[in-house]
Amino acid sequence: MLDDLKKLGRMVDQDGPLKNLVHFETLNQVVYKGEAYPIFSFTIGSENPLHPTLFITGGVHGLERVGAQLAWSLLKTTLDRLIWDKSLQELFKNIRLVVIPLVNPVGYNKFKRCNGNDVDLMRNSPVRAIDKTPFLLGGHRYSKKIPWFQGDLNQLEVENKALYDKFFQSCGKSTCVVSIDFHSGFGMKDRIWFPFSYSKKPYDRMPEMNALTVLFNETHPYHVYKIEPQSQGYLLNGDIWDYFFLELKASNPESIYLPLTLEMGSWAWVRKNPLQLFSKQGMFNPTKEHRLKRTYRRHHLLFDFLLKALYSNSVWSNLDPNIRQKHFNSGMERWYEQ
Ligand SMILES: [Zn+2]
Repeated sequence: MLDDLKKLGRMVDQDGPLKNLVHFETLNQVVYKGEAYPIFSFTIGSENPLHPTLFITGGVHGLERVGAQLAWSLLKTTLDRLIWDKSLQELFKNIRLVVIPLVNPVGYNKFKRCNGNDVDLMRNSPVRAIDKTPFLLGGHRYSKKIPWFQGDLNQLEVENKALYDKFFQSCGKSTCVVSIDFHSGFGMKDRIWFPFSYSKKPYDRMPEMNALTVLFNETHPYHVYKIEPQSQGYLLNGDIWDYFFLELKASNPESIYLPLTLEMGSWAWVRKNPLQLFSKQGMFNPTKEHRLKRTYRRHHLLFDFLLKALYSNSVWSNLDPNIRQKHFNSGMERWYEQ
């Protein structure tokens, strides 16, 4: 995967139409057993700090490799299209896309969920849950030998620090931000989770989340996703996206920020090919090539919708108070009052 990303980086840096539209960077290097693993980012489109931003990440959990592969696939298509598609070039004059396809390169290469320090990057922020979390799974600080270890809560791991800096550099002043982090795991359905993880209380931007959900449901009535607050599954300590949300809210209270997590249901892949249960990464990834390609295709619709929804964000992010109240009520009914 790192070689594939380097290849995309070279494609961007060549003299050609992409050179002025895309910025390829190495955010940092993670050193593990004497070897350096780079964290790459690609920034496409507007350099106006106020403009809306879509922030895409994959491979936070190294073992869930399909997330990094999906981020790579969306990025590759976008770069290929940018060369000839004038409507896409036009779109990117007013919005920005940041893609960090592989946040945890050590985990990816070593088939580990955690990073090289055995820290679960998804649970490494200083945010503490205020409602009950499941034992261990909800994040813990007992031992790095047990999964879901949070690490030192006063210090973000190198990978999360790189993510944090890039996030606030590119999204810190944006009027409207959507982030989407690609994961895979148990379950038959593809789920889109939004905050909070640390509390069961309704999330501050729930009315806007409801407005965007209504728009998505109306535009794509046959979409495959179950959209719900993370707290409907289980609560977490140290959730990194809760942390980014709370930090952005403190520094830029006017901004509308929706942190989304796509949790791709892996049971469907396992059911169709039970043998993959015996492979190390089989519980989390499609092991057959055609199923991986289908996974790529499946999420292009969502990606395209999010780009357009950011371009036209006033429709759902700048709600008149009466309409906002209606979305609040409808979201409460949809997600919190069952
Ligand atoms: Zn995950």
